[in-house]
Amino acid sequence: MMKKKRFAYRVYPTVDQQQVLARSFGCARAVYNDYVARRNALFEAGENLAEDSDVTARKVLVDAKQPGGDRTYLAEVSAVMLQQSVRDAQQGFANFFASVSGKRKGPKMRPPRLKSKRQTTHKIRFTRNANFRLEHVPGQKWGWLKLPKMPPIKTRMTRVLPSEPSSVTITQWADGTYEASFVVEVAPKPALAPTYQAAGVDLGITDLAIITTDTGDARKVANPRMLKRAQRKLGRLQRSLSRRAKGSANRNKARVKVAKQHRKVAHARKDYHHKVARQLVDETQALAVEDLHVAGLITNRRLAKAISDVGWGMLQRLIREKANEAGRQVHVIDRFYPSTQLCSTCGHKDGKKPLHIRSWACSACGTVHDRDINAAKNIMIAAGLSEIANDCGGCIRPHPGDGSPYEAVTPSQHAPQTA
Ligand SMILES: [Zn+2]
Repeated sequence: MMKKKRFAYRVYPTVDQQQVLARSFGCARAVYNDYVARRNALFEAGENLAEDSDVTARKVLVDAKQPGGDRTYLAEVSAVMLQQSVRDAQQGFANFFASVSGKRKGPKMRPPRLKSKRQTTHKIRFTRNANFRLEHVPGQKWGWLKLPKMPPIKTRMTRVLPSEPSSVTITQWADGTYEASFVVEVAPKPALAPTYQAAGVDLGITDLAIITTDTGDARKVANPRMLKRAQRKLGRLQRSLSRRAKGSANRNKARVKVAKQHRKVAHARKDYHHKVARQLVDETQALAVEDLHVAGLITNRRLAKAISDVGWGMLQRLIREKANEAGRQVHVIDRFYPSTQLCSTCGHKDGKKPLHIRSWACSACGTVHDRDINAAKNIMIAAGLSEIANDCGGCIRPHPGDGSPYEAVTPSQHAPQTA
């Protein structure tokens, strides 16, 4: 089975090309906003919202090209790109309605809003029928991206594009740099034989992840130093930005610096998370992770920054994606499962542990636990991936994975017997 993947490259448009792109971003935004406004007007007029969204889309695109209208400049840019922009707005409404009706899972979505000229990131997308083309001689550093209605754009080829792309998205980031991101189909690499049958993963703030395996190995995956350094620099630049007077040239310079550093941090983190997820999936057959519901945790303001800095949400998503691709299992443990409170040796529920408690001794069996390693073990146990014999020998702790994760594990049932 082929997989869709994105391949992104920096592109370096000339000043002229930058102007064409700016015009294209503006046109894409205009038809997007036309579509949103038309749907909103239909809604306010009490019209049937089920009006075929394709009908509205066609009206928007036809009106856009009406000769003598105030939008004649739209004819100067690629029609495919305008179609794609309207399609994005359509998709936005489709997602919104699916979310309202409960067909779409996850947090409730808002309807698409009008796009502002002042937003800092701009995107346009071209599909196959726009006849875009990437010219690149393998082994050469530079390639040329040919988009409709403009001369080829210089493209930094950091790796070879493996097959014909089905679409390309051009993005202008807040720091003024440009990127071309291609969607291509690739055959997934065959998965290696796993070293471990099972592993539990606990995500943390001090360490990015704590991993325990069925063979009893435990390791902590630290947040890399380069990421910490980049984050410190980001903090410094942000403080400098907040000191500049609003609307001043210096403020704008500071804003670009912050945006650049943001991108660097995001890049470094993404790269690192890819590597961590790759190793985890390669070496393990069945993984147990916590359903952390990152969006909910972020409402705790004290933890919000730390959590979005480590990027749990992205790491979780990458682990699931890669596991899925490689045919590994992922067991998701309910987020209310008390993984930090249970003793992974005897199952005794030892009560809440404040964050500063890094290690503790179980009051029932006396085992001294590293807080995070114990939590990772419990996650593995809860998923039914581990059966641990306790000290009394032969008496196996039934894993809560059999029932609801809410199920309390009572000490009397599982405490080691002294008889
Ligand atoms: Zn214990």
